[in-house]
This record gives sequence, C-alpha cells and structure tokens, in this order.
Amino acid sequence: MLIDRALVTWFPGPASYTGEDLLEIGSHGGSLTPQLVLDAVLAVGARMAEPGEFTRRAYLNGKVDLLQAEATLDLIEARSVVLQRAAIAQLERGLSRRIEDLRQGLIELQALLAYSIDFPDEDEGPVPEERVDAAIASLRSGIEELLRNAPEGELLRDGALTVIAGRPNAGKSSLFNALLGQERAIVTELPGTTRDAIEALLSVDGYPFRLVDTAGYRDRPERIESLGIEVAEAYLSRADLILFCAESGRPLADNEEEFLAKWSDGDAEGPTRVLRVRTKSDLQTDAGAEDEIPVSVETGQGLVELRERMLEAVYHGLRAEEETPLVTRRRQARALERARDDVSSFEAARGAGLPPEVVATHLQDAQLALEELIGIVDTEDVLDAVFASFCIGK
Ligand code: GDP
Repeated sequence: MLIDRALVTWFPGPASYTGEDLLEIGSHGGSLTPQLVLDAVLAVGARMAEPGEFTRRAYLNGKVDLLQAEATLDLIEARSVVLQRAAIAQLERGLSRRIEDLRQGLIELQALLAYSIDFPDEDEGPVPEERVDAAIASLRSGIEELLRNAPEGELLRDGALTVIAGRPNAGKSSLFNALLGQERAIVTELPGTTRDAIEALLSVDGYPFRLVDTAGYRDRPERIESLGIEVAEAYLSRADLILFCAESGRPLADNEEEFLAKWSDGDAEGPTRVLRVRTKSDLQTDAGAEDEIPVSVETGQGLVELRERMLEAVYHGLRAEEETPLVTRRRQARALERARDDVSSFEAARGAGLPPEVVATHLQDAQLALEELIGIVDTEDVLDAVFASFCIGK
C-alpha cells in the first residue's frame, strides 16, 4: 500500500552527522503522514532514537566535542541573537580552542615541575621559580577571563528576569507594552498564574529579557492592600532586574522608599538590581533626580535610554568583551571553577613548601576538570546530563 512518495537521502559515514551511515526520509509534512511513515519504519525493525542520541553518537564517534554538542542545543533553542551567535562561534570551536590552550598550559607546567622532580641535581639547576610563576599567572587569568561573564552568559538562554514594579496606576502595563512595541504579539499569560502576571521575551539589541508585568493584581484589591506594592515577592526575589515605576514629580510614599531600600543592591560595585523609572514624564517638566529615568509612553521620551540602562545593568560584561568565547551553561562554569580552585590549591601547596610530587596532583585535578568540560574524558552521568535536555531526533 502506498503511504507517501518521500525524498530519501543517503549519508555514507564517516562524513555524516553522526559519523555512521545515515538514511534520512523526508516525507510530506503535516501530522498524519510522517507518523504513518514512522510506523512503517518501526514495523520493519527500527526503533525511536533517545533524546539527543544523534548528537551523542556524533560525540562518541569524535565528530564533535562536548562543548560543540551543547552548542548544537543552544543553536536549536536560541531565542536571542546573542546566544545564537555564541552557539555558532562555539560550533566553530571558539571556546573549545581556549580550553585546549589552557589544558596545554597545564600539561607544560606539569612537565616543568616533573623536570625538577626527576633531575633535582641537574647542572642547570631547578626550573626558575619565575617561570613557574608566569605559567600559573597566565593559566589563572585565562580561566578567570572565561568565568568573568559566565553568569551573564547563562542569562542568555531564558533571558534576564525583569520585573516591572510599582503602585497601581503607576504606568507599569503601559511601559510593558511600550518596551515590547511590535513584539507585543508574543505576550503569553503564565500558566497557572494568569491572574498574577504576564510575561514576554524582550530583545534589546539581541540580548534577551524576560519582562514580567503583574497587572493581574488589579483584580484583587486585598493583595494590593497587604503588599502595598503590587508585585509578588516571589518574582522579585528571583529577579535579575527590577524596573521600579513611580509617576514623575510625585514624592515617593514611605512604602515605596521601603521597597527601594529592600530590593536595591547596597553594594555599589555589585550588579544594578533596580532601575528607578519616573513614568508619565509628559505630564511633568521636573526632570527628577539624577538616578531616575524619566519615561513617557505618550511621547516616547526616555525609552531609548531605559533600554540602554537595562542592557548596561544586566549585560555590561558581555558587551564589553564580545571577543571572549561565551560560557553559557552552569556545567561549563562549574568545571572552570573547579579548575581555578585546583590552581589555587596548587599555589597554596607550593607556597607551603610541600614536596613537588604532592603539589603536582592539584594540576592533574585541574587538567581533569578541563578534560571533562570539553569531553576528552567523559563519564556516563555527565553525558546523560548533557544529552537529556535534547529533543528526540537531534
Ligand atoms: P499600571 O496600573 O501601573 O499598570 O498602570 P497603567 O499602565 O495601566 O497606566 C495607568 C494610567 O496612566 C493609564 O490611564 C495610562 O494611560 C496612563 N499612562 C501610563 N503611562 C503614561 C504616560 O507616559 N503618559 C501619560 N500621559 N499617561 C500615561
């Protein structure tokens, strides 16, 4: 019985995606026909792939390293241009090459130390301390450079949680809509919390923000009473950024000052947590305080500056160092942190005058952390964690 006329592509290994012989059937689309084709293929002995199995096989066959496998997933899931760019750069092995260089540095340092262990009485004397010091300094700065923007890199996947806060009528919903502009169409009500909040993904220059408006509280005056400010604390405590709204020219009420004191980051060096927005600036000539941003959704005043300040508050580091390969996952950051801590332990042990063979074990640990990161050595649970998040067929 004829099911469909399909395009069948044969990819002989090892030049295929997985490195194995691969057959791809492109049937007509829709919901039923592909399913019927699949049923027919399963009936003659094929089985469904595990999530991420194709990429996992590509990894096991040496077609990609583990960081490239993760970048493949980033590329598929990217909802922001910056993450998409980072994923493409990593598919070209940008981060992998950096990690390989660091690993190479570690191996050379171990060789230097081994030389001192094996030939302590060599005529040329031990390896000069300065050489070891210089090698460590360069390793450390290489690792730290990659780690510096890792927290920002991780925000690229879901977007920086940005909560618009303020009293009822302060202009929050209007600001939410104005920031989204043309993108208003993708606003979705949060499942289970439809009355509490709506959320939309906002892209500012390709950098993603998860913009949350808690307009739903208007329907529940008793919550407004009890909270004073109509935003759920749960959101605020998780927020990467808060846009605090108050009408231009109006002195802040006590509970608003309390709100700012509670949620602003006291540490001037730390990341900005709260941007103070003065709404409806078209109704006021007063420019407001220096740390306030006057905004009007009627005239558009201040919207460009607000976007710029949002970028600066959340993605300052990434924008400043666009050339540095991005660390976009917790797994990657943790491995680098382990390597950095092992290098510190090495320095401490060396400073304490411990025997060179003891000191050197810390460098082996650092090397192992980097090798797990890139997948030169792997453990099943690392692979399971990496590939579990893939969908079937990738
Ligand atoms: P929310 O309760 O904080 O979400 O406030 P809304 O966004 O619903 O705005 C409350 C009222 O202020 C509405 O009538 C808006 O039209 C008005 N409003 C909001 N922003 C502006 C603005 O920039 N200029 C002026 N003139 N009115 C505004």
